[in-house]
Amino acid sequence: MKIDILTLFPEMFENVLSSSILGRAESKGILEFHTHNIRDYSLNKHRNADDYPFGGGAGMVMMAQPIFDCIEHVKGNSSARCIMMSPRGRVLSPEIAMELAKEEHLLILAGHYEGIDERVMELMDDEISIGDYVLTGGELPAMVLIDCVSRFIPNVLGSADSTEDESFSGQGLLEYPQYTRPSSFRGRDVPEVLLNGNHAEIKRWRREQSLLKTLRMRPDLLERASLDEKDKKFLESVKSTQNIS
Ligand code: SAM
Repeated sequence: MKIDILTLFPEMFENVLSSSILGRAESKGILEFHTHNIRDYSLNKHRNADDYPFGGGAGMVMMAQPIFDCIEHVKGNSSARCIMMSPRGRVLSPEIAMELAKEEHLLILAGHYEGIDERVMELMDDEISIGDYVLTGGELPAMVLIDCVSRFIPNVLGSADSTEDESFSGQGLLEYPQYTRPSSFRGRDVPEVLLNGNHAEIKRWRREQSLLKTLRMRPDLLERASLDEKDKKFLESVKSTQNIS
């Protein structure tokens, strides 16, 4: 997948995109990242990319001209899906990430300042938010989106890092607790069931721990999770002993 990123701060992406799993995916040729400095497209002699908002108000607004020129140059005649990072957008979810992972080419616009001239919207296919809060710029949200989408692209994760058994995946529950060696650390022992080699028992324990974690941290997820009769009975018994309604 080719990913073009339009930003006023391309240097913010350097370490993130070249490190760890994303960096490996790029060197394997699975991902291809290109950052573009919107300021390079400004026709203004001071290379300004922002101006005061019409109608007054706090902050500056990113101008349409440098963004239009940058997108026209970067996108050309390609069918890149153009996404603006915005707190007004669809909130990122595994479903959205899986949908975007099927694209061959993404163009991501990271905003800054108070916002972006609304006329830029006519070039966009999508607006994506990473949550109901406001950050200073779209660079971190763009990195979050890229990381999240990349995990659903075949061969980006090693087989050991599968997306199938994680929080929010498949069954809609949070992940069970994980442990690694040593089995005893400063007097804290790993649950015995994980050491006995009985795979059926380990599977059941993990399922129950997922149910417990979800009940405590995100009970809202249980309404949409796929639960069988055993799960429901387990939750009922926990709720009755802990007086949870
Ligand atoms: N005034 C805007 C509003 O109230 O919606 C917020 C502008 S914010 C300070 C500047 C830029 O950061 C936005 O244009 C967007 O690109 C990015 N941004 C901030 N919060 C975000 C979020 N939760 N999700 C995605 N992008 C976000």
